[in-house]
Amino acid sequence: MNRVFNFSAGPSMLPVPVLERAAAEMVCYGESGMSVMEMSHRSPDYEAIIQKTEADLRKLMNIPDNYKVLFLQGGASTQFAAIPLNLIGRTGKADYIVSGQFSGKAYKEAQKLGYDVKCVATTKDDNFDHVPEVTKDMIRPDAAYVHMCFNNTIYGTKFGYIPDTGDVPLVADMSSCILSEPVDVSKFGVIYAGAQKNMAPAGVTVVIVREDLLDYAEEKMPTMLEWKTMAENDSMYNTPPCYTIYMLGLVCEWLLDMGGLEAMKEKNVKKAALLYDYLDSQDYYVAPVKPNSRSLMNATFVTGNADLDKKFASEAAKAGMKNLKGHRSVGGMRASIYNAMPYEGVEALVAFMKKFAEENPKA
Ligand SMILES: *Cc1c(COP(=O)(O)O)cnc(C)c1O
Repeated sequence: MNRVFNFSAGPSMLPVPVLERAAAEMVCYGESGMSVMEMSHRSPDYEAIIQKTEADLRKLMNIPDNYKVLFLQGGASTQFAAIPLNLIGRTGKADYIVSGQFSGKAYKEAQKLGYDVKCVATTKDDNFDHVPEVTKDMIRPDAAYVHMCFNNTIYGTKFGYIPDTGDVPLVADMSSCILSEPVDVSKFGVIYAGAQKNMAPAGVTVVIVREDLLDYAEEKMPTMLEWKTMAENDSMYNTPPCYTIYMLGLVCEWLLDMGGLEAMKEKNVKKAALLYDYLDSQDYYVAPVKPNSRSLMNATFVTGNADLDKKFASEAAKAGMKNLKGHRSVGGMRASIYNAMPYEGVEALVAFMKKFAEENPKA
């Protein structure tokens, strides 16, 4: 069986050299005599793995020393609750930018906890076809934090700018864009991301948090959600998701070999341009997202006919391009073109799109 081009939004493609290395090390890791899956998380072999993973991630993202890097479980969705529980104590209220489904869920989770949370900007009325323009005057100056989602996986939009929130810490869900291009970490209070889009298999959530934000947790805070506890224990308060962290380490090594995030950005811009330039050059497919909000990682498009959309996804799968069906809440198609998707995958997709349009004229 040959590998396909897998356009899944997540879990998604991993770099082949990473998979091959994991396979080679699967049964016996180095001189340890065992698989990473079988190792105590407190063993010297494993400590070396987690420490190198953190060091490489810091190098790749240029994470300043006054930020902690946490490797947690529970997915990005668990952080929707952990964020208010860790931070609201600063001032008692928080602001949310709602630019899609995940930021909406984060907002609702904070509401559910009974906190004073305010949606300060949303593009819901436009079906999230662009991201909101957020200016400092929209933010409550006494908010404990402002939450945003940097890349909206489902709608295929991305913030082309970092909102200026003044002294209010900015908390960003970067699940679907982390490691896709350089980002100035110092502009954020917290960056978090589930691994299964652009980092590793599902199972680890990375939280990058500025140290001064570790002191506001609620008294009744569940220990497992408390960033400070996790930071003080180097993510080893309990058993961390050991194997997925190891996989993240392999991905970080691969990214460093590829030339780091500047080099990845160049590749990702080139891949996305191939697809968007084609979309802009014809009228068979429509890209619903406004050009200045387009995501580099998730590109959405529709034929305007639900039956054709369905046929597109199924015929593409037969041609070796899988998981192009859009999210169930949006319909149409979505091509997720994360770091591990080669340029050839997007070339194959565009060639298929042309052929499909010729063979399936609209009535
Ligand atoms: C996938 C995704 C999530 C949810 O992640 P889980 O790890 O499944 O909880 C949250 N935010 C964004 C932006 C995502 O893409």
